[in-house]
Amino acid sequence: MLPADDPDPNAVPDVRRCLDCGRCSYVCPVSHMTEDFSPRKVAEQFVLEGKLRRDRGLWQCMSCGACTEICQSEVRFHEYLRAKRRELRETFQPEDTHGAAPSSIMRLTANEKIAPKKEGWVAPDLELDQGSETLLFVGCTPYFDVIFRHLRDDLLDIPRSALRLLNAAGIRPKLLPAERCCGHDAYWLGDEDLFDRLARLNLDAIEKAGIKEVVAFCPECYSTLKQIYPRRFGPLGFEVRSVSEVISEKMKAGEIELGHEEERVT
Ligand code: SF4
Ligand code: SF4
Repeated sequence: MLPADDPDPNAVPDVRRCLDCGRCSYVCPVSHMTEDFSPRKVAEQFVLEGKLRRDRGLWQCMSCGACTEICQSEVRFHEYLRAKRRELRETFQPEDTHGAAPSSIMRLTANEKIAPKKEGWVAPDLELDQGSETLLFVGCTPYFDVIFRHLRDDLLDIPRSALRLLNAAGIRPKLLPAERCCGHDAYWLGDEDLFDRLARLNLDAIEKAGIKEVVAFCPECYSTLKQIYPRRFGPLGFEVRSVSEVISEKMKAGEIELGHEEERVT
């Protein structure tokens, strides 16, 4: 989950509040991997130079919000960078990652004339109910299975496992053939037009299908649907939960048990 919303999410947070304490760099995953990046360095550069350099640093942040969680000066760095990206992308396009495949998927699925095909991963032992009011939101995993095959053999094990867990909890969800990319990357890269197109297509499809609950297994889909959709479009007509929340509730209610209780799972 991202940190709590700003009262005005479109306001640009004031990085001049930064005290240069370094706590954000300590928790930032990008700082750990990239020598020349740290949230406080970007803040310092802005304060000293009055503007951000349009270099890679601006686009390296992954918008996880860990820096904002730990900052005692309420700098809200992840929101600050989103606002700056929105402003700067007019004149400076970020470099595409992974051979531009993820950004192409976002743009292609934002085209309402293109019908996504996303249900080929369902194994014969898994149960769906197309009349269900619970939707399993699959996100871009079916496409990522092709793009990231060099990193992991079968990414489709992830939606299969999520569906298997739901089935074990007595839930047979529906899949939406018209489901699009949730728009997470478009939003955090400052491309609000693309994000709004994707989100509206998803919201229309979810509403038309009479869905009361959306279950996500991807943390980006989860936080986008739960926090960003209402931020842009107002209250949702359905609940959003993660698979882990559903399973944890069922375990507490004694309706599902782990086979190996001594195992540590995430
Ligand atoms: S945690 Fe906050 S105050 Fe400390 S360096 Fe980072 S942005 Fe500045
Ligand atoms: S939001 Fe960006 S800058 Fe902050 S901790 Fe995450 S990756 Fe680092």
